[in-house]
Amino acid sequence: MLRAGELVAFPTETVYGLGGDARSDLAVARIFQAKARPRFNPLIAHVPDLASAEALAVFDDRARKVAAAFWPGPLTLVLPLRAGPGLSPLVTAELPSVAIRVPAHPVAQALLRAFGGPVAAPSANPSGRVSPTRAEHVLAGLGGRIAAVVDGGACAVGVESTILGLAGGDAELLRPGGVPVEALEALLGQTLAMGGHAGRPSAPGQLASHYAPEAAVRLNAMTVQPDELMLGFGPVQGALNLSETGDLVEAAANLFHLLREADRMAAGRRIAVAPVPDTGLGRAINDRLRRAAAPRG
Ligand code: AMP
Ligand code: MG
Repeated sequence: MLRAGELVAFPTETVYGLGGDARSDLAVARIFQAKARPRFNPLIAHVPDLASAEALAVFDDRARKVAAAFWPGPLTLVLPLRAGPGLSPLVTAELPSVAIRVPAHPVAQALLRAFGGPVAAPSANPSGRVSPTRAEHVLAGLGGRIAAVVDGGACAVGVESTILGLAGGDAELLRPGGVPVEALEALLGQTLAMGGHAGRPSAPGQLASHYAPEAAVRLNAMTVQPDELMLGFGPVQGALNLSETGDLVEAAANLFHLLREADRMAAGRRIAVAPVPDTGLGRAINDRLRRAAAPRG
């Protein structure tokens, strides 16, 4: 099912994750749709071991030391993204960093090894609800919206992974979680400041470093003007189209690629974007489009 781009929830030691192929734009778009997430915040890529993690991100000595001590386990590392690992831009929200975790749960390990690629997996609950720690919680929240849930019983840790930011200079705590901060501080020999203030991407919706097109962007355009390149949606045609059939999952999967493509093709013109309905995934798409259209500093 994962190989077919479908969503499979699975147990980890923290909470149940909603898994999709992290290399597939469509699978990752489906994750946002199933959770009804109002924003494209970055997701954690799950891999079975350090070697697979090193294919996605750049590890320095500090990162290797932390990984050696706490992986597999309830710790996520945010590290510089390696060039060309084939991750969907929806996973990293176009940031130059990537969040990676190696879960310890034997079912998660077996699934990741059998699949053989990175699995994007936020918690398997509708956006804004309590995280699921049993398969029945997953079904109660997402039943009918996902292909399957692998039942591994109750999660042992029950809270999300600790997120440690190692992408910049100083190590920073981006989210407290299953690994105690004190244990990380002892290993690193320093106190950890809580990161994630304005400009940092740890808080969903504060993704100031999102890619913004060079071109000016006009939203809710029904027709294209002479100095514009049109990015269409559904019946509103353009040189490019987010989804000819007006499918919001397809539009979300295409969004980041097509914004870049439109920017390349615009060559000094503005980008006009057709209206996208503000329901379901359309909310996250419009959130991203508003950022692209916002006045630049
Ligand atoms: P969830 O997948 O719902 O457990 O949430 C993932 C968390 O990791 C969110 O708080 C994200 O903002 C954070 N995160 C994921 N990728 C990155 C990244 N590249 N840089 C900083 N934070 C990240
Ligand atoms: Mg969550």
